[in-house]
Amino acid sequence: MQEALLTPYPFIKVALPVPMRTLFDYKVPKALALRHELKPGMRIKVPFGKSSRLGVIVALSETSDWDPEQVKPFTSLVDESPVITKELMALCEWAARYYHHPIGDVIFHALPVLLRKGENAEFRTENWWLTTPEGQTISLDELKRAPRQQDFLKAVQQHPNGLSQHAASVLDLAPSAGKTLEEKGLLRREPRSFNKGGEKHAHQTQVPPTLNPEQAIATEELLDSRHHFNVSLLDGVTGSGKTEVFLRLMERLIEEGKQILVMVPEIGLTPQTLKRFEVRFNTDIVLMHSNMSDRERLDAWLLAANGHAKIIIGTRSAAFIPAPNLGLIVIDEEHDTSYKQHEGFRYHARDLAIKRAQALDIPVLLASATPSYESLTNALQKRFTWLKLRKRAGNAHIPEMERVDLRGKTLVHGFSEHALASIKLCLDRKEQVLIFLNRRGYAPTLMCHQCGWIAACDHCDVNLTVHKRANKLHCHHCDTQKALLHTCPECQSEELFTVGEGTEQIETQLTTLFKDTPILRVDRDSTQRKSAMEKLTQKIHEHDQAILIGTQMLAKGHHFPNVTLVVIMDADAGLFSSDFRGMERTAQLITQVAGRAGRAKKPGHVLLQTYHPDHAAIECLCNLGYEHFAIDGLSERKSLSLPPFFHQVIVRAESGNEHEAMQLLAAMRNDLEPYFSKDVYLVGPYTAIIVRKAGQHRALISIKSAQRAPLHQATQMMTKWLEQSTRQNRIRFAIDVDPLETY
Ligand code: ADP
Ligand code: ZN
Ligand code: ZN
Repeated sequence: MQEALLTPYPFIKVALPVPMRTLFDYKVPKALALRHELKPGMRIKVPFGKSSRLGVIVALSETSDWDPEQVKPFTSLVDESPVITKELMALCEWAARYYHHPIGDVIFHALPVLLRKGENAEFRTENWWLTTPEGQTISLDELKRAPRQQDFLKAVQQHPNGLSQHAASVLDLAPSAGKTLEEKGLLRREPRSFNKGGEKHAHQTQVPPTLNPEQAIATEELLDSRHHFNVSLLDGVTGSGKTEVFLRLMERLIEEGKQILVMVPEIGLTPQTLKRFEVRFNTDIVLMHSNMSDRERLDAWLLAANGHAKIIIGTRSAAFIPAPNLGLIVIDEEHDTSYKQHEGFRYHARDLAIKRAQALDIPVLLASATPSYESLTNALQKRFTWLKLRKRAGNAHIPEMERVDLRGKTLVHGFSEHALASIKLCLDRKEQVLIFLNRRGYAPTLMCHQCGWIAACDHCDVNLTVHKRANKLHCHHCDTQKALLHTCPECQSEELFTVGEGTEQIETQLTTLFKDTPILRVDRDSTQRKSAMEKLTQKIHEHDQAILIGTQMLAKGHHFPNVTLVVIMDADAGLFSSDFRGMERTAQLITQVAGRAGRAKKPGHVLLQTYHPDHAAIECLCNLGYEHFAIDGLSERKSLSLPPFFHQVIVRAESGNEHEAMQLLAAMRNDLEPYFSKDVYLVGPYTAIIVRKAGQHRALISIKSAQRAPLHQATQMMTKWLEQSTRQNRIRFAIDVDPLETY
């Protein structure tokens, strides 16, 4: 009698992490089919060319499109159960189609890094410290001459179920003391599966404030529709208590046994945000962001996947986290551009999350003080429920915005007299000032006084930024770094000088102007180290008066109650951008930065330094606010047939050779345009604004349409054409659906 096959299918279709928009067929080895039930979402090892690769099963199949004799059997099975659930597989397949991206790359992107590398989908084991019978009874006094051992033993004695190594390090216990105690026979170690839930400390639970009427109405609406798919836009001015509203909704859903995914922008997850969740929820919270190690991320992923973690707070890639009881997705600061991946698989986490929620029939909550024009349009057209909070919560008021005309004025280190006087007054009142300048480093340009030479990047068409403290010249586009020069390479003159100001320079200048005031700089350079941001925030909270200087990092989600003055050094920075989204971004940034002022009891004041005080945009933003500004902006977009009224796809090409990328896109347009629907409009090819970046010459072509279908069709044709035409050369291409950058 023949044994029954656990997998009755002869073939499988496999996704591999290769840049090809196709699945690969493999045979199921008989021996394996007898012992294992294969399922989509399991990882396997397959032969590929001359090497072996990790792949993910996408489907089981009766047939193959290839000659069955030519189809190779796969090598081995990695997982006992799928690492990509059915739900996520469907999401990946949708994303691959929608973004015209290779399915293998999408599926691998959805997995944590360690699983992409073949690691088992299991919790790591961690050593736990336990007392031996002798260690349990010994008097701590006997160790009084070895205080570190004494501390260690005391801590383990206080945890009869054991103390994890992780907890020991959190408690600052010396590992060497533990080892000595082990040698003395007082402690022993036991490997246990890592499970953060096991060592949760009792949380202090905070009494929530009473909701104000606006918050109460929004909460009511959200609670009413919490069991089905719908998208709400919680559009509330900075400090209006949006977080408080979604905490209420989360509370209820957690009581109902649901898991909740809270998405935050790339650098928006502040220690304060996490704390706020921890004091409110006596439940397991995991984080998922780029500052964690690969191992930490896999553990968080596993805790979400087994349903243990009730709240998952993560950045963009968390959109793909498995969560069997997912009941709500919150997207905080939904307008933030870090939700869109800018290279490789160019998905938008907000849009993907909405798609996911729709399939799961669960609600999505988008929150922002400055909603994206896309979401506003959806709210205006009633596809999203529009919940507005127009007052600040508690006793706080919306800060007053004042334009400071810089024309013809003498500036001191980039500050007008009025700004400096206001800073001084604010500090005298023992309050804090926030200075916003969206340019890090010391200066954006280094120049020679004798011959006019400018330090430029060898690989990009941009100037190098001077970083004095690090003694470096740094390209902010390709990351090239060089030692700071002191003589001109062209004429050997030593008269090099800097042009323009960055945050590092402002910090230096203010230190001399305000000698006894603590000055704290918050930008990517000052917060590189892991807990740097946490320490900086702590310092900000410790002082009464202080000056904070920062880039857009400071604009995101922070709550500094003692900041009463915000100075925007260069409000004109984004006014003349060549991207049609320039105005939207500028308005969002200015509004968000301004929103840091006066968030508590004391009133706030904002100074916008500008050379264009009468510019319609600045005037509208100051006098009428973001919503009005955005609605004006939207009518302009409509009249120009721009997104969100038209849908757009950008095709990018880049090559080391100067003209190749342009020529390729021109040839493509020439070949395909006759076949495109008349409802699609092409622009280009045109070169990128920074033509050469990291040694690559870049060209783009834009295609748009009022309807998705013809645009999708045209994109499909372009993708096919490009795949074929670039097979033989080194030109790289990328498809960007719903692009946020168009140059
Ligand atoms: P947002 O998310 O809109 O920026 P938050 O939810 O962070 O606003 O609220 C801003 C501040 O106001 C926080 O310190 C918060 O604790 C407080 N707050 C929120 N709602 C209320 C309320 N109903 N009564 C009093 N204080 C509130
Ligand atoms: Zn020179
Ligand atoms: Zn460069």
